[in-house]
Amino acid sequence: MSVENGAAKAEKAGRKAPEPKKSINLTTWILISLAAGIVVGIACSLWVPSDSPVTEYVINGAFYVLGQWFIRLMQMLVVPLVFCSIVCGAASMSDPKMLGKVGVGTIVLYLCTTALAVFIAIVLAQFTNPGIGLDMSAIVSVEPKATATDQTMADMLINIIPTNIIKAMNDGTMLQIIFFALILGFILGRLGKKVATVNRFFTQFNAVMMHMIGLVLKVAPVGIFCLIARTFSSLGIDGILAMGKFIFTVYLGLLVQLLVVYMLLLFLFTRLNPVQFLRKVLPVMLFAFSTSSSNATIPLNMETLEKKIGVDPKVASFTIPLGATINMDGTAIMQGAAVIFVAQAFGIELSFAALVTVVITAVTASIGTAGVPGVGTIMLAMVFESVGLPAEGVAMIMGIDRLLDMGRTAINVTGDAVVTTCMARATGMLDEGVFKNHDYEAVSEKDLVEFEEPAGYEDFTAHGDPTEIGEGGAPDKFADIEEPVVK
Ligand code: ASP
Repeated sequence: MSVENGAAKAEKAGRKAPEPKKSINLTTWILISLAAGIVVGIACSLWVPSDSPVTEYVINGAFYVLGQWFIRLMQMLVVPLVFCSIVCGAASMSDPKMLGKVGVGTIVLYLCTTALAVFIAIVLAQFTNPGIGLDMSAIVSVEPKATATDQTMADMLINIIPTNIIKAMNDGTMLQIIFFALILGFILGRLGKKVATVNRFFTQFNAVMMHMIGLVLKVAPVGIFCLIARTFSSLGIDGILAMGKFIFTVYLGLLVQLLVVYMLLLFLFTRLNPVQFLRKVLPVMLFAFSTSSSNATIPLNMETLEKKIGVDPKVASFTIPLGATINMDGTAIMQGAAVIFVAQAFGIELSFAALVTVVITAVTASIGTAGVPGVGTIMLAMVFESVGLPAEGVAMIMGIDRLLDMGRTAINVTGDAVVTTCMARATGMLDEGVFKNHDYEAVSEKDLVEFEEPAGYEDFTAHGDPTEIGEGGAPDKFADIEEPVVK
């Protein structure tokens, strides 16, 4: 049976096809729901008495139930998503061809800059105190887990290794899940085609999880509206001030990472002029800022490094796609600041061991975060879970996510560019003559228009849909394996 759409029917009947309706995208819906939630919440805090039926049936009734459903949907994703994405990330790193001269150094630099990024965010947030003055514990009561409060350093180290991975998944013990997933991923990467079926399973299951995130995000505007309205009906104006302070802390952290960490790293490794370097990568940063996607920025970043900075294509074509997959310093900064923000807002004291756990989980979250918009905030649920912070905090942050996502993606891709330049210099594959040429324009207009912003989580990678391995999707690395023969 053929299905004709309205436009085709209208054309057949000789009428002019109606203009396709412009639909509002998800990001706009989330922003609208955030703004509406704040307005409704503050209006309720000013004019609705706490013992009225509106408070009982709407704010603490419907809003509460819908908000909790949304939070549970997100929590439902955490363990399978984290497990799968870390297995896939680790498998891609252990490809023997990649781990040559450049590979190990690049991975070490990527992980170190990310750890430094979380550290900077945690320290800055201790000064700006974004969550002080907000009393979220009045709205949601949380039982702090042992990990958040009194676990000693020795306990934390011992508990990294699970005694039973099924129990770790059941309890949501993130460090143990990560530990197992990293080992599994590395082994899968090393065995490659010999375990093609298992490799394919994880790649495809990862893609299924990305679709599931897409589904949960479709209901996010409703969930966010309910959560924010209920939150702000208790917090009033203080809530807005705290959100502003949190955004300020994240952007301050991003600036420190860019101007201090990256510029020092660049200067120490390469002696190149940092100002000139920044001017050359500015179009890359702006492109990442406007698309919020490291994956979509891969071609422009590679071209810029090759044609303007002088990096050998052999280096950039390996380090940039790898960086877009495993190196997310901006995302880590948001996560570090978010931990302090939410811990302060809920009145939870974090022990030193808990802060170390945050650094480790944020670094591994960065390996597991896909370079598409918004995934960093979903992975935040894993960081929160590792130290027993409530998922309600993730929902609060999700409301302002796009604002943060733009800035953190710009830093994510700059981190990839800086580490790539350093590695190119260290391995003698940097042509300084190219760098000295003062041309600051974007590489070519084509690179800017060719890659569209991923429409949603369906476009899991810039190179194709991994659910369609080998057929217009990701190349099938395991295509020529021999099928096992069962005798
Ligand atoms: N949008 C980020 C990126 O593509 C990932 C994230 O933090 O959500 O790098």
